[in-house]
Amino acid sequence: MTKNDQKPWIDFTDRIVLITGAASGIGQATAGAFLETGAKVIAADLDEEGLENFKSSFANFAECITTRKIDVRNERQWDTLVEGIEKDFGKLDVLVNGAGVVMADKVGAFDGNVYNKIFSVNVEGTLLGMNAALKLMRKAGKGAIINISSAASLRASTTLASYGASKAAVQHYTTSAALDLARAGYDIRINSVHPGLIETPMADTFYEIYSMIGSPTEIIEKMTTGRAGQAHEVADLILFLSSDRAQFISGAAIPIDRAQSV
Ligand code: NAD
Repeated sequence: MTKNDQKPWIDFTDRIVLITGAASGIGQATAGAFLETGAKVIAADLDEEGLENFKSSFANFAECITTRKIDVRNERQWDTLVEGIEKDFGKLDVLVNGAGVVMADKVGAFDGNVYNKIFSVNVEGTLLGMNAALKLMRKAGKGAIINISSAASLRASTTLASYGASKAAVQHYTTSAALDLARAGYDIRINSVHPGLIETPMADTFYEIYSMIGSPTEIIEKMTTGRAGQAHEVADLILFLSSDRAQFISGAAIPIDRAQSV
């Protein structure tokens, strides 16, 4: 048997995958990786131009891509999106909650605008996504949800207090939902991934926030174990967790940061 005759180790043929934050960075790389393994992808984001660019750069897969504008903070938009998926595809196999924002703030210098923006997108957006997707997944009795949290949820920070707390909330909701669904007998798994510094447009904001350390190269030297990660590396972890190969993994919080400690 030649290598080409072997079944691929991950195959999402005919799986329906909804990804938020798909116009950029990790969400976009994940959407591309799902397409390459046979999935039909619904790429959702606030940024319509970014979604169009994504679709053009995956022109070979055009018939497998649906783009949808959504503000993940809006419950009605989530309902409309998921109702449309039920009508068009009859099911939803995977949800990746990738939309997120980062801003700097400190404990002891409370800024309600920063807190509200971060919590409404990162926490409420993720929760609303889980609620909407679960309506469909419960009907099928199965599915997988991956919430993109952050290594910042696991560590103290003097500059990313609300961001870290929002990502810790995502982790906690993830484990609670996973337990609830498993106890109720559903084959619906929910996990969170916790990337360290990943080279995406969001990394530029991190570089600005940490500019007191120095240039991006100096920040990478100080804050990582040698290099920043790439979006496709996070995508690979998300694909694995979404796949049937990860049947016994649910409620897990998985760091992807090359042993970074700060
Ligand atoms: P990115 O800025 O490249 O992409 C984020 C996407 O989310 C953008 O396309 C943006 O339009 C979308 N978005 C923001 N608010 C939205 C809203 N209200 N509704 C719909 N879409 C919205 O960032 P990224 O690095 O790809 O980040 C993806 C996820 O990974 C985020 O949750 C982020 O917090 C997390 N993360 C990133 C890093 C990193 O170093 N890049 C590290 C850890 C965790």
